[in-house]
Amino acid sequence: MRSDIIAAISTPPVASGVGLIRVSGEGCFDIAEKMFRCKTPVKDFEPYKMYVGSIDGGEITDFGMCVIFKSPKSYTGEDMVEFHCHGGVAITRAVLRKAISLGARLAERGEFTKRAFMNGKMSLSSAEGLVDMIYAQSVSEAKMGFYLYREKLLNRVKVVQDKLKYVLALIDANIDYPEEDIAFAETENVIRDLKECRSSLIPLIDSYKNSSKVASGVSVAICGAPNAGKSSLLNAILDCDKAIVTSQKGTTRDVVEGAKEIGGVLFKFYDTAGIRDSENEIERIGIEKSKKIISAADIILFVTDGAEETSAEDKEILLSLDGKNYVVVANKCDLPQRNGLKPDLTVSAATGENLDALFSLLSKKAEVDTINFEGDFLTEERHYTAISNAKAAIDAALDAIKVYPLDVVAADVKDGWSYLGQISGETCDEDVLNEIFSKFCVGK
Ligand code: GDP
Repeated sequence: MRSDIIAAISTPPVASGVGLIRVSGEGCFDIAEKMFRCKTPVKDFEPYKMYVGSIDGGEITDFGMCVIFKSPKSYTGEDMVEFHCHGGVAITRAVLRKAISLGARLAERGEFTKRAFMNGKMSLSSAEGLVDMIYAQSVSEAKMGFYLYREKLLNRVKVVQDKLKYVLALIDANIDYPEEDIAFAETENVIRDLKECRSSLIPLIDSYKNSSKVASGVSVAICGAPNAGKSSLLNAILDCDKAIVTSQKGTTRDVVEGAKEIGGVLFKFYDTAGIRDSENEIERIGIEKSKKIISAADIILFVTDGAEETSAEDKEILLSLDGKNYVVVANKCDLPQRNGLKPDLTVSAATGENLDALFSLLSKKAEVDTINFEGDFLTEERHYTAISNAKAAIDAALDAIKVYPLDVVAADVKDGWSYLGQISGETCDEDVLNEIFSKFCVGK
């Protein structure tokens, strides 16, 4: 079926050196023919080669480049054209409008990539990796996106899917030819293969706990008594004046937040308001918000004033942290130390002393320092759920094989195969696909 021609600006709408307009679909070369002038007519263009000339943007003419991609060797798998004009809003929009006036329509979010998926150019997990790469705020997020994009997860999963398919074939053969002499589907072989499949999935499932933290960012709630130096420490960590610092208590009334990349991983810091009884309505709201953030944080960074005697409030806070993932940091190590709490680390927000040690400690506490970005891992909840369900189906098959006939076992094995098919997208329904592609920006 011939799909319509879509067009979009693929670069951000800001003043920039170059702007890119993409057009995809059968017939897009005719549009390029009408819009691009150079010595060689577009119909004689060599694919994948840039040509320099003038781009007709209707009310504006720009000087730029044009390249054509021939189906199926293009991003979408369809014929495609790219116009490389000057960046900024006015020129790119004019070029896009012209393409639309010549028969293209504005692409929806992620529609180029959806077409690539539909045309078998990439799997669903690869498309998800691409979204992760585009929106990555840290090196590790980009690496994890690249892992998916380059089909590394899919290849891992395909090995298991193939084995499950083989098990199904063995079981089928046994059901169809039960009298045959050949040792089809010897139960032991089926059990061995299913156990191998299970073992391949377990490390992936186990990796999710830590690697998903990388995808979402590690949240760190900074808490402690007023004047311990929490706001100063946040500013020192972020290397900017984000939080207000005064010697007056109760200054931090709302949660102040900021992000920093540590060892390639994004850490999100929240400077919480001191938890105390307050008559002040605004402060009370801030305190409620702080409590929520503290209870949801991956790590609690408890800051105590190292230059002061340990206060009753400090002791109370420490007790309340029991059972939570926390670190104790004594601040103001530039001053003589008097605090009786045994801190994990002494730092100075004022001089920056020991901040690097604090960053290493936080990476360790978050357990993101040991993630092997060259190995295998899961970052997306959707993949985690699919693989966990596949493992549960294999477990059910292993249980069933002890008591039930082989056709019952086959149903579980098929379920396992089908759950794994959700990674590539081959067994996903339209709603899931639409949700995934809606995360893209227009023009990708
Ligand atoms: P918060 O209430 O815990 O957020 O504390 P602030 O960050 O507002 O700091 C309280 C006071 O301690 C301010 O006067 C800061 O200048 C001071 N302060 C914070 N950190 C340090 C430090 O490392 N060394 C010294 N000497 N003073 C600090």
